[in-house]
Amino acid sequence: MNYKRSSALFAQAETVIPGGVNSPVRAFKAVGGSPIFVKEAKGAYLYDEDGNRLIDYINSWGPMILGHAYEPVVNAVIDKAKKGTSFGMPTEIETKIAQLAVSMVPNIDKIRFVNSGTEACMSAVRLARGYTGKDKIIKFAGCYHGHSDSFLIQAGSGAVTFGSPNSPGVTQGTAKDTLLARYNDIENVSELIEANKNEIACIIIEPVAGNMGCIPPKGDFLVALRNLCDAHNILLIFDEVMTGFRLAKGGAQELFNINADIVCFGKVIGGGLPVGAFAARNEIMNHLAPLGPVYQAGTLSGNPLAMAAGLAMLNELNNNAEIFNRLAEKTAYLHKGIAKVLNENNITHTINRVGSMISVHFDKAKVVDFETAAKGNNDTFKTFFHGLLNEGVYIAPSAFETWFITDALSYEDLDFTIAAVNTVAKTL
Ligand SMILES: *Cc1c(COP(=O)(O)O)cnc(C)c1O
Repeated sequence: MNYKRSSALFAQAETVIPGGVNSPVRAFKAVGGSPIFVKEAKGAYLYDEDGNRLIDYINSWGPMILGHAYEPVVNAVIDKAKKGTSFGMPTEIETKIAQLAVSMVPNIDKIRFVNSGTEACMSAVRLARGYTGKDKIIKFAGCYHGHSDSFLIQAGSGAVTFGSPNSPGVTQGTAKDTLLARYNDIENVSELIEANKNEIACIIIEPVAGNMGCIPPKGDFLVALRNLCDAHNILLIFDEVMTGFRLAKGGAQELFNINADIVCFGKVIGGGLPVGAFAARNEIMNHLAPLGPVYQAGTLSGNPLAMAAGLAMLNELNNNAEIFNRLAEKTAYLHKGIAKVLNENNITHTINRVGSMISVHFDKAKVVDFETAAKGNNDTFKTFFHGLLNEGVYIAPSAFETWFITDALSYEDLDFTIAAVNTVAKTL
């Protein structure tokens, strides 16, 4: 394939945008080469600036669950835009999407809309601290909750139980309040709680991890977390920015039949516009300003275009619940097909899948946490990524990302993809 125009556009971008991108993973640093510039997209396909067609397995990192330029969503945005794009005043559509979201998701009474998943998680943690009167939080290594300071934390050294900053600019003072646990390791969480008795406000987790590849929660791990939280007066925050409205109408809470205390949303809930949200029962949500003392605000929060896109998206999902089964079936088909051709070509691999999230890891061992995810062969992944790209299949440019299956994918697309994997496997 020819990427001349993409490369030229990237060179221009680099002169005025740091690294040429507005979010680091887009820059292809993990796989090498120069990023693809998108011109437009429709359904399951991206069309780049050089005229190449690519089958899209990123789908804007999740939001485009029904495919690109999905008409009901696009039309809702166009209609709204003609009536004014922002007021900074209440509008009826905010209540409509809130009512719908509350009806779809278990165990929430109220929801507050923000502009990104980062904002949702940051605000959820503030609310948990304000509600419990405690300062510390537990997060899991490899889980991503956006780029706010409290989450940019890596494991501390040796016996130190608190984390240390993993980005310059995050202070030691902030890092000391974030404790880092191993995903799928309940003993580890238990130890952290014991060592920080009565200090932990919340545990925040991706109920299915999607930011270190796709990692399902083991057996009763989430139940055990729920029980630990109840026993120690700790709020359980499900970061469902990726899983919300994707794994089921009610997200992972519904899929695993476990209630979280606060739930964060993003991605699908905005239908491709910048939206995040966090939600909980009244007793918790009523602590938020202007009802309560915990401050949180946003000039563009509840923006009419964003709400129109989100409402149209949630309506489609709510009225067509079979979409979730269909997505899971397509993903299972892809899983089976990829596993078959990788096996036939003797490529060491392991595949993780939950619903419409799937990831291919180039390692024999099971991938259950950040440590095991990091063991995958990155050189193999790079060759795999560029090989697929050359075949017209676009997966995330990093071994630590999930593929997001969209309902716009046909079985012909899936067969095309499996054939592409077979071709590439011969070069690995
Ligand atoms: C994408 C993501 C976020 C951050 O959302 P942004 O909209 O990029 O700020 C937070 N949590 C999870 C689980 C995510 O996948």
